[in-house]
Order: sequence, then C-alpha cells, then structure tokens
Amino acid sequence: MNIILLGPPGAGKGTQARRLVDERGMIQLSTGDMLREARTSGTPMGKQVAAVMDRGELVTDEIVIGLIAEKLDGDKAGGFIFDGFPRTLKQADALGQLLDGRGEKLDVVIEMQVDDEALVDRVSGRSTCGSCGEVYHDTTKPIPADGKCSVCGGTEFKRRADDNAESLKTRLFEYYKQTSPLIGYYYAKGHLRTVDGMGEIDAVAAEIKAVLG
Ligand code: ADP
Ligand code: ADP
Ligand code: ZN
Repeated sequence: MNIILLGPPGAGKGTQARRLVDERGMIQLSTGDMLREARTSGTPMGKQVAAVMDRGELVTDEIVIGLIAEKLDGDKAGGFIFDGFPRTLKQADALGQLLDGRGEKLDVVIEMQVDDEALVDRVSGRSTCGSCGEVYHDTTKPIPADGKCSVCGGTEFKRRADDNAESLKTRLFEYYKQTSPLIGYYYAKGHLRTVDGMGEIDAVAAEIKAVLG
C-alpha cells in the first residue's frame, strides 16, 4: 500500500509515519528528512537548499522529485508513506508518473487537519532524537526523565533551525498557497480521506488505522 500524509507543518505527519513504519513495515519517505540529511553531510545540494529551508520557503520541485525518484527504486517492503511530499501540483503529477512507470499505484491520501494556533505550539515545542529521529514535544510527548530516547536510548536531541515563529509563518503561507490545492486534486481522483489531527497522538493513530483498515 502506498499512501501520502498531507498536512501543514507540525500536523503530526512524521509522528504518525513512524508508527506506521513500526506497525506495518512500511517505508517512510520524508523529503524534509532527506533535505536535512543533505545539509548535515554538506553536499552541494544541501548547501544550495539551506537558506531556503531556514526561511520556510519550498525547495525546487526538481530537487525533491529527484530525491523521491531515487528512493522508489529501492526496497518497497510494506509500501511507501510519502511524508511532506508532494507539496505542489507539479510534484503530485510527477509522483503519479513515477508510480505508474513502476507499475505501482497510490492508494490513499490522508489529510491531517490541525488548527493554525495548535501548529504554533507543536512546532515551537518540537525536538527529535539525534540518533533515531524519534519526535518529541516539550509538553505533549516529553523526553523521558532519565534523558534517554525511549526508542534507542540516545541522549542527544535536536531542535530544527526552521522551528521558529517567523519561519512557521512563511511555511504556513506556502502550505495554503502551494500545497492545499492538492486536497482538491486528490479529492477529484477519489484518493482523499480526512482525519482530525487535533486529538492525542494515539487517537489520531486510531483514526488513520480505521482509514487504512
Ligand atoms: P514540516 O515538518 O514542517 O512539515 P518538513 O520537514 O517536511 O517540514 O520540511 C522542511 C522544509 O524542507 C520545508 O519547509 C521546505 O523548505 C523543505 N521541503 C520539504 N519537503 C519539500 C517538498 N516536497 N517540496 C519543497 N520543499 C520541501
Ligand atoms: P509534521 O511532521 O507534520 O511536521 P511532527 O510529527 O513532527 O509533525 O509533529 C510536530 C510536533 O507536534 C512534534 O513535537 C510532535 O511530538 C507533536 N505532535 C504530533 N502529533 C501530536 C498530537 N496528535 N498531539 C499533540 N502533539 C503532537
Ligand atoms: Zn532515539
């Protein structure tokens, strides 16, 4: 099964994707994670996108489509979870073509709905484990009291350079302008399912489970 998690920054896409990986053996393809990796390893592409990402603007379609195309040729396991991709109509068309060309199809697009005010809280409290990428939140999912990641025992946690109020404003604007048209696009194709992303992490996971069966 191949699915897209669609939603604004901080909606909980990464959090839910990781659960699906654990529970269903699916493969998470997060373009945000891939771009951050390219930055950390200092590749020419990583250097090229750094400032754009910190401002909260979108990286070019060519770059992210290229990243996804490479991954689709690898292990497919229980199917792909597209997390943070596609973000433009051009990316959505490209994904359709890439899947077609490999004899694959898209099964479901899950739109996660979260109010803007809640997104500010989510993003400003977010941190991730530096070793395994587990996502934490200062109040809703705190790092264990012993300071060790509950998944891998790691002790280094990172905050994202773009998780500040100014960048979030730009990211939200970009979401409504460039990404939200995908809701109509996938509705028209019969792929769209909507879940309430405002509940607790377990409640959202249960809603997604009900959609995926
Ligand atoms: P969030 O968790 O806020 O939804 P991501 O980790 O998915 O953010 O993305 C972080 C940044 O990486 C984006 O603000 C954008 O600059 C870039 N990016 C990620 N995915 C894409 C994409 N599909 N198209 C263009 N830019 C992207
Ligand atoms: P996205 O990948 O959509 O940007 P994340 O999964 O990184 O979102 O979640 C953003 C922040 O909100 C993280 O700190 C995460 O721990 C927290 N979070 C995710 N889902 C929920 C939820 N349902 N309720 C409360 N906090 C959540
Ligand atoms: Zn960890």
